[in-house]
Amino acid sequence: MRLVLLGPPGAGKGTQAERLVAHYNIVPLSTGDLLRVAVTAGSPLGLKVKDIMARGELVPDDLVVALIAERIDAPEAKNGFILDGFPRTVKQAQALDRLLSERGLKLDGVIELRVDEDILVDRIEKRIRETKAKGQTARADDDPVVLKQRVAHYRKQTAPLSDYYHQKGSLLAMDGMQGVDKVEADIERALQERVSVGG
Ligand code: ADP
Repeated sequence: MRLVLLGPPGAGKGTQAERLVAHYNIVPLSTGDLLRVAVTAGSPLGLKVKDIMARGELVPDDLVVALIAERIDAPEAKNGFILDGFPRTVKQAQALDRLLSERGLKLDGVIELRVDEDILVDRIEKRIRETKAKGQTARADDDPVVLKQRVAHYRKQTAPLSDYYHQKGSLLAMDGMQGVDKVEADIERALQERVSVGG
């Protein structure tokens, strides 16, 4: 199973990705997580992207595309993967198309979590509180001002991917305002329907 998860910051992509990973025995590929690991490790990639990420801006395409290509080629991803946070622009989506077709692979579906923008701030604030309650440090970009910037980037650069994948017939749009279990059930049903019609 090879999937893409689309949705603005705070839409619940991470939560749903975890569930899909367990259900289909596939690997999670979150560019945000992979980049944060690089920042924490202080690797050359991490040093390049640290400030860009803290400002809520997008990391250059060549860096994220290379990161994803390496992970897709890893043996752990043989059974499939779920991309979260990538692609983020139409250019990245085209790069992903090329990357997959060169390897004779295809996406099984693109799941879009649709949520109202006004609830995103509440959700991110909740995530900050929960992170602190666990004794961990909140993400540098989980901050109300930077969040606005991330949502604006999403609207301008990533939301057009919804049309891009709709035109290819691979978009599965979900109501992300519902409870976590209901969203999960809707996704499972949509994927089963797709597989049964040979989509
Ligand atoms: P969120 O979706 O909650 O904003 P992510 O964890 O997906 O957060 O990403 C955090 C940051 O990592 C982004 O704001 C950006 O700086 C960088 N990033 C992640 N994925 C990409 C990508 N595909 N292209 C460019 N930058 C990215």
